[in-house]
Amino acid sequence: MTGTFMLVRFLPGMVGETSRVVHLVPAPSAPELPTELVAYCGTTIPPDAAERLDAVEGMPCTTCLLTAPLPTASCTPKLPSEATG
Ligand SMILES: [Zn+2]
Repeated sequence: MTGTFMLVRFLPGMVGETSRVVHLVPAPSAPELPTELVAYCGTTIPPDAAERLDAVEGMPCTTCLLTAPLPTASCTPKLPSEATG
């Protein structure tokens, strides 16, 4: 256990590509996964449809980033939407 949350996104084909952002889900206290994963932004992800990541890939969920208790607020990742073009 490396932190207080997991990185989870929907598996390909479960939702549109624009919804396949990486959500932050509070790490369950129990060793088993709960019946549903509720991200900090409120998105509910069934474990069957969840892809767990070791690192953020692609677009992170902005609401999760703002809501989750990240250890350092001074090094938040730069969102691709902030880039020009
Ligand atoms: Zn989210």
